[in-house]
Amino acid sequence: MKRILVTGAAGFLGSHLCERLIREGHQVIGMDNLLTGNLRNIEHLMKLPEFDFYHYDVTRYVYVPGPLDFIFHFASPASPADYLKMPIHTLKVGSMGTHHLLGLAKSKGAGLMIASTSEVYGDPLEHPQHEDYWGNVNPVGPRGVYDEAKRFQEALTMAYHNTHGMDTKIARIFNTYGPRMRPGDGRALPTFFIQALRGEDLTVYGDGSQTRSFCYVDDLIEGIYRLMQSDYHLPVNLGNPEEITVKTLAEEIIKITGSNSGIIYKPLPVDDPRQRQPDISTARKVLGWEPRVGLSEGLHRTLEYFKTYTQQELIHT
Ligand code: UDP
Repeated sequence: MKRILVTGAAGFLGSHLCERLIREGHQVIGMDNLLTGNLRNIEHLMKLPEFDFYHYDVTRYVYVPGPLDFIFHFASPASPADYLKMPIHTLKVGSMGTHHLLGLAKSKGAGLMIASTSEVYGDPLEHPQHEDYWGNVNPVGPRGVYDEAKRFQEALTMAYHNTHGMDTKIARIFNTYGPRMRPGDGRALPTFFIQALRGEDLTVYGDGSQTRSFCYVDDLIEGIYRLMQSDYHLPVNLGNPEEITVKTLAEEIIKITGSNSGIIYKPLPVDDPRQRQPDISTARKVLGWEPRVGLSEGLHRTLEYFKTYTQQELIHT
């Protein structure tokens, strides 16, 4: 049994990760400033003796009493709409937050994993994206606050690994979806689900020919768990290589919700990546990992969550 700190514990990925760690028999301390996270995501964990929650912002000095074996730094606004609203905080949680947590891990002799992102590749000029590709990021564009924070986070983590011999891991997480995504976080998948279930037109940006590759959350968490157990310190892409255009995603969601919604087109946001697909050969080789849940099955599982959400929303309005 390990004692593990998870930052961003009340978020989409953080809450699934805490759940998995507890299921594996670990003691978990969840930390979150609740800026984009929601306590509803972890209320079922709050009752468990294996789980503690600290309401805290990791851009300030982080203190955790007692021993720690591992830290997952998963705190950050992660949807483009969120980090556009909170650009400075996004930069601080990726930079200062990471520095504090690396310092904490060093003082406790703990390992640490950072939640990096496919955004380190920016609007990629290589396709699919392998870990060796260095990316095409506009540092002063609207997405730069997230992309550069995450690139700095990777650099800092490698520096601590090389300088102090610390056990660090870098997960480059591609688009992930599933229950507990925040409706209204502005991302394509939750936006399309909510629009379809309300019978509103789906807002596709640009002509919808840009691509993404969506990974179901359970698959992603399995990859994260295996990476924690590995002794691999270089970045690892984690995502599902099943690539689809945004327009096709919208059409799929209209189909599986049985909605009468149409599609309307809005301007493409600045620096929106044209295409994205992970090369997961490293994860296959090092972790023996690959996703198991296809998009169609994953969307059906996710539908149940958004249905419940829209029903509750109707009750409360
Ligand atoms: N997108 C869209 N309609 C929306 C929200 C997003 O067409 O209501 C597009 C967005 O421009 C991007 C893709 O969907 O090309 C995925 O966007 P998302 O915000 O989910 O995440 P990203 O992968 O860009 O970080």
